Amino acid sequence: MPSAFAHSLVAFTFSKFVKAKYYSISLLFWGIFCSSIPDADVIMFKFGYDYSHFLGHRGFFHSLAFCCCLAAFITLGYLLFTKTSIKRGIVIFIFLALCSCSHGLLDTLTSGGLGIALFSPFDDTRYFAPFRPIKVSPIGIEKFFSEWGLKVLISEFKWIGVPCIILIVIQYLANKIFNFSK
Ligand SMILES: [Zn+2]
Repeated sequence: MPSAFAHSLVAFTFSKFVKAKYYSISLLFWGIFCSSIPDADVIMFKFGYDYSHFLGHRGFFHSLAFCCCLAAFITLGYLLFTKTSIKRGIVIFIFLALCSCSHGLLDTLTSGGLGIALFSPFDDTRYFAPFRPIKVSPIGIEKFFSEWGLKVLISEFKWIGVPCIILIVIQYLANKIFNFSK
């Protein structure tokens, strides 16, 4: 997996493309939550599910189907508990689905571990992208503070950080010129 920092940065970048009238800090929070939460499936190791199991790490909880359901569930919360119009609800769903689905897709670009069950529960094949430039992040916070962790951060900066910065700058300039975000 890329680290939680990288997944959060992607959510932050996507949030820049949400129109101001639909944006809120809570939406950014939920976007970061959706982009990072699939890795909570490492807890399944503790319950005895091995890596390659349907419920194992990078299995069903990394799938596009689960990520879209998660986005729909949180959107439903917005619709039920806040004054959210259907139109804003649609924007919220698309934003959250992009954040959560980006997780598994980015993981397919990593150099280690098993592939990602993107199409689970319909197809449990573990997929990798043909091009895998991102160094896989260690599982566990203590291992992250090591030479391995530093190499991960450098590769993430190159392959995720730089594209995100470019997108943020493009959005900023486009907004200045065309006033898109209103
Ligand atoms: Zn992951």
